[in-house]
Amino acid sequence: MKLFPRFNYFIAIFIYLLVIGWNVWWTFTWLYHQRLRDLAEEGSSRLELYVTYLQGVLEKYENIPELLANDQALINLLNDHDNPEKIDFLNRYLEKINNVSNASDTYLMDKNGLTIAASNWKGENPFVGQNFSYRPYFKEAMEGRLGRYFALGTTSSLRGYYFAYPVRQNDSILGALVIKINIDSVENNWGREDQTFIVTDSNGVIFLSTNKDWRLRTLTPLPKVLYQSVVESRRYPDASLESLDIVREQSIDSGHIIRVKLPKDNTSKKFLLQNTVMQQAGWTVQILTDTNRVERFVFYVFLVISSVLVLAGLLTLVLRQRRQRKLDLRCFEEQARKVLQQANEELESRVSERTKALTKMNSLLRKEIDDRRRAEIALQNTRSELVHAAKMAALGQMSAGINHELNQPLAAIRSYSDNGKLFLQKGRLEDTMWNLEHISELTDRMAQIGVQLKQFSRKTSGQMTTVPLHGVIDGALEILGPIIRKSAVKIDVLLQPENIKVCANLVMLQQVIVNLIGNALHAVEGLPIQKVGIRACPKEGKIAITVDDNGTGIPPEHLPHIFEPFFTTKQSGQGLGLGLTITERILHEMNGEIHVLESQNGAKFLFTLEEA
Ligand code: ADP
Repeated sequence: MKLFPRFNYFIAIFIYLLVIGWNVWWTFTWLYHQRLRDLAEEGSSRLELYVTYLQGVLEKYENIPELLANDQALINLLNDHDNPEKIDFLNRYLEKINNVSNASDTYLMDKNGLTIAASNWKGENPFVGQNFSYRPYFKEAMEGRLGRYFALGTTSSLRGYYFAYPVRQNDSILGALVIKINIDSVENNWGREDQTFIVTDSNGVIFLSTNKDWRLRTLTPLPKVLYQSVVESRRYPDASLESLDIVREQSIDSGHIIRVKLPKDNTSKKFLLQNTVMQQAGWTVQILTDTNRVERFVFYVFLVISSVLVLAGLLTLVLRQRRQRKLDLRCFEEQARKVLQQANEELESRVSERTKALTKMNSLLRKEIDDRRRAEIALQNTRSELVHAAKMAALGQMSAGINHELNQPLAAIRSYSDNGKLFLQKGRLEDTMWNLEHISELTDRMAQIGVQLKQFSRKTSGQMTTVPLHGVIDGALEILGPIIRKSAVKIDVLLQPENIKVCANLVMLQQVIVNLIGNALHAVEGLPIQKVGIRACPKEGKIAITVDDNGTGIPPEHLPHIFEPFFTTKQSGQGLGLGLTITERILHEMNGEIHVLESQNGAKFLFTLEEA
C-alpha cells in the first residue's frame, strides 16, 4: 500500500530534477554567451586601439619618403651617382635623417633598383651597392606611387616595413627613396596572457604577433602555388611558413571560437578570434582572446548555483523528513493514546469486576470468620469439657492405681503383723523380726509410691539437669510395677553404654517413659508371649531411645493421628488419647523428637534427647 506514494514521490523528485536541470542548462548557456559577448566587446575595443596604434606608427613614417624625395641633393646624386663625394655626403645626410626619424634604414635607389646611398653605409651589411629591384615597394614607387611593403630584410633578416617614394625630375622618375622602419616595438607592449594580437599579410602570413612562436606562420595552410610565389618574392627568406593547427569550432556575432593546438605542451586552447582589416597597409589585424576566463566564470557560477541547489534540495529533504517524522510521531502518539485509553477502560472494567468479586468474597470471608469464631468457641467449650473429663479419668485411674498399690502392701503388712504377733507369742524372735523388717520395707515402698505420685502430679518446672537414663527407666518401671507384675510381660532393658546420661527434666522424662511403656504393656495385654524392649544408645550426637513391643501394632491409617490429642483406640475408661500428645510436647520442650518406626510385629517408638 505504501509503494504508490513512494513511487509518486520519486516521480516528483525526478521531474523536479529535470526542470532544475533544464533551467540550469539554459541559464548557463545564456550566461556563457553573455560572457562571450562581453569578451567580444572588450576584444573589439582592444583591437580598435591596436589598429589605431599601428596606423599611428605607420603614419608617422608615411610622409617622410615623400618629403625627402623632393630634396635637390637626392636628384643631383641620381643624376651623378658616380661622384663619390656626393655619395658620401648623401650617406651622411641619410644617416642623420634616419637617426632623427628613428627609422631602421633610409636609403636611395636608382631607377634600376641599385642602392646608391644608405644610412647604414658604415654598418656591417651596408645596403649601398645592393639591388632591391625585385622588391614590390620599389616597383610601386617606380610606377609613381607610394610603395608599402612588409618583409624580412634580405641582408639584415630583421622584420621591417618599407615605404618607398619616387624621386622625380620633371616627369621622369630617377629612382626611389626608401625608409624602412623597425616594427618590433609594436608587439612588445601589447601582449597579454589571455590576449594575443596577430597581423597577417594578404597571403595570411603572420608577420606580427605578440606570441613570438606564431610569427611567420600562417593561419591556414598556403596553397602550393601561393607558397611558391611567396618564397620566390624573398619576402620572408628562410621562413618555413608552417600553418598553425587551428580548428574553427563556432561562429558568433563578432568573431569565431577557435581551438589552437599548442605544440609546446601538446595542449589546445580555446580563443575568441576577432579581426579587422587595415585597408591601406593591406593587413588583417586579429585578436585572439582566451575564453578560459568565461568558462571559469561559468564554472564557478555553476559551482555556486549547484551548491545552493543541492543545499536547498537537502534542506527540503531534511524539512520534509522532519515533518514526516512529526506526523509519524503524532500518529504514533494518537495510536498509543487510543491503546492506553482502551487499556484503561479494560482495566477499569476489570477493577470494577474484581471489586465486585472481592466485595462478594469479603462478605463470604466475614461470614466464614463468624462461623469459625463460633466453631472456635464451641471447640473451646468442648476442649475444656474434655480436659475436665480427662482430669476426672486421670484422677480415677490414679486413685485406682493408688488404691491397688496401697491395698496390697496394707494387706501384706496386716498378714506380716499377724504373723509377727504369733511368732512373738511363741517366742520366735527371729521370725518376729523377719516379719517386722518386711513391714518396714513395705511402708518404705508405700512412702516411695507417694513420692513418685507427687513427682508425677507436680507441674513441670522446665528445669533441665543431667539425668542418668538407667535411673529414670528404673523409676518408670517402678511406677508401672503393679501392672507389670500382674502380667506375664518380659521387659528387656539394654543401654549402651550402661551409664548413659541425658539432658532432661527427670520427672518429665519419667512421665514420657511411663507413657510409652504403659502403651506397650497395654498393646501386649492378653498375648501368650509378651515382650517389651527398651534400648538406648548415642546416635548422631544425640541419645536415641527406643521402646518397642510385640503387641497389636499401629494400623497405617492410625499413624497420622496418634499424636493428635484425644485420639485413642482404647475402650472408655482405659485411655483418653492424651498420652502421646503430652509425650511429644514434653520432648519438644526438652529439645527432643519422637517418631514411630516401622516394626515387623508390634509398635516401635524412637525418641531422642540431648546427651549430657
Ligand atoms: P491412650 O493411651 O489414652 O489411648 P495415647 O496418646 O497414649 O492415648 O495413645 C493413642 C493411641 O495410640 C492409642 O489408643 C493406641 O491406639 C495407639 N498406641 C499407642 N501406643 C501403642 C502401642 N505400643 N501399640 C499399639 N498401639 C499404640
